Amino acid sequence: MHAKLQHSKDLLQKIESDYAPNLVFACSFGAEDVVLVDLISRYAPKINIITLDTGRLHQQTYDVMDACRQKYGIEIKVCFPDTQEVESMLTTHGANLFYSSIENRKMCCAVRKVHVLKKVLKNQQAWVTGVRRDQASSRQEMQEIEDDQAFGIKKANPLLAWSEKNIWQYIEENDVPCNALHAQGFPSIGCEPCTRAITVGEDPRSGRWWWEQEDAVAECGLHASPLNMNK
Ligand code: SF4
Repeated sequence: MHAKLQHSKDLLQKIESDYAPNLVFACSFGAEDVVLVDLISRYAPKINIITLDTGRLHQQTYDVMDACRQKYGIEIKVCFPDTQEVESMLTTHGANLFYSSIENRKMCCAVRKVHVLKKVLKNQQAWVTGVRRDQASSRQEMQEIEDDQAFGIKKANPLLAWSEKNIWQYIEENDVPCNALHAQGFPSIGCEPCTRAITVGEDPRSGRWWWEQEDAVAECGLHASPLNMNK
């Protein structure tokens, strides 16, 4: 764990020196992301922290957002989707469109997340994520620093080699604020209508979009290849 931690610190400092101020961490306030908030505020504070407020988040996510703001004294830029896009989507397809088809779910993720992130990343050179390799089979090939073809900039994944156990050990040892939903069995925290608790032995990704067919890609488009984004 000590070596992994040191490696992640070094990587954060390297990307800070290579890309700041044109570098953002897109934080969702899940367990991995609060670890990164802690590491960035200690070791690489020039990395800008942003969050996408889809308009459908859990109250517990707003609570941990404020707890991080308070504990670390950091600025967290909150980015909302385009009002007209949301209004038009809901007028045409209804407020709960994501349950009616995979296409509608992907449309909602595109409007509420992907388009917003695209706008945020437009003038950046790199972005940071909290993804871990063992979270999903679709993340096996990811690299710590890679070309993000979807957004046309570099993408850094400093926690790629961390296990879930490493994450929780770090949170406990450093008293990092974390989302109360994890204690209720939520493996990952997304939008309120699209995430749920899972039971022991279930695939962690089944906590998202569980009503879709098993072979559907359980990604929202933020970490998908350009191929997957078009599905
Ligand atoms: S996770 Fe659900 S509510 Fe959130 S943007 Fe995607 S489809 Fe919409």
